[in-house]
Amino acid sequence: MKADPGAAGTPPPGGGPPAAIRVTDAHLHVQPWRLFRKEALERMAAERRDLDTIRAVMEDPDAFLRFLDEQGIERAVLVNYVSPDVIGFTDEVNAFVGDFCRGREDRLVAMGGVHPRFTTDPAGDLERIVERHGVRALKIHPPHQLFHPNAYRDGGDLPSLARLYEKAAALRIPILFHTGTSVFPGARNKYGDPMPLDDVAVDFPGLTIVMAHGGRPLWMDACFFLLRRHRNVFMDVSGIPPKALLRYFPRLAEVASQCLFGTDWPGPGVASIRRNLEEFRALPLPGEAMRALLQDTAARVYPGR
Ligand SMILES: [Zn+2]
Repeated sequence: MKADPGAAGTPPPGGGPPAAIRVTDAHLHVQPWRLFRKEALERMAAERRDLDTIRAVMEDPDAFLRFLDEQGIERAVLVNYVSPDVIGFTDEVNAFVGDFCRGREDRLVAMGGVHPRFTTDPAGDLERIVERHGVRALKIHPPHQLFHPNAYRDGGDLPSLARLYEKAAALRIPILFHTGTSVFPGARNKYGDPMPLDDVAVDFPGLTIVMAHGGRPLWMDACFFLLRRHRNVFMDVSGIPPKALLRYFPRLAEVASQCLFGTDWPGPGVASIRRNLEEFRALPLPGEAMRALLQDTAARVYPGR
């Protein structure tokens, strides 16, 4: 059998067997499917054969934890965001994900959303969802929310974004930004360019910024540059087929301390979390980089409770 660098880990001081890695899937979607618009649901359900399983675990947190056990995942970040016009998700997602994770905060991280085009006070909204629903991270999806992340600058039409970022930094709430394309009907792909995040990283050095999907498939170089330039910028590799990952990011090991493993399950093209993880563990990455991606970076960006 081939040596598995992912399972090996770093030997503890004084010898003995290396500590097992507690794998975090830093990007998967547990969402209230009843809110999907018809076109978005069709896109989501296309070509899937496990819809019954998906629906069952999305209504039952304990069933979901058993499902994670089967997949080899210890902790998971449950990505939710608000996009009533393009996808169908309203502010209700915050209560949904808060209820889902309550009492299971050691394994599940509730990620919620606010939509600066559908509220006059996104910073106040963030405070509310953190207090009321226990939300611990925020998702912004520019191609589904139709703005650039730096639309608070240069005469942009969303000055309230600056107050949202200030509030997130003050509350130590990391923000995950979708970067890269989206094929959902109604998505606008010009907003998938990660480079506007350069402004956000410069203007809000205390904010933790995570780029989802590494800009796939058009903007990998920009993401790599932003990782190297900014200490407060991180990246999850979800949605990138593990077998293609090192082709897209040949120098991934150099930035591993800013990178997180994630699957984007059950997004289009992600059939199985377990298979995704197996393929990821088979990559020729140094043990330390493997450990950072699977466990350590997530423990810093999305600490457990
Ligand atoms: Zn996603």
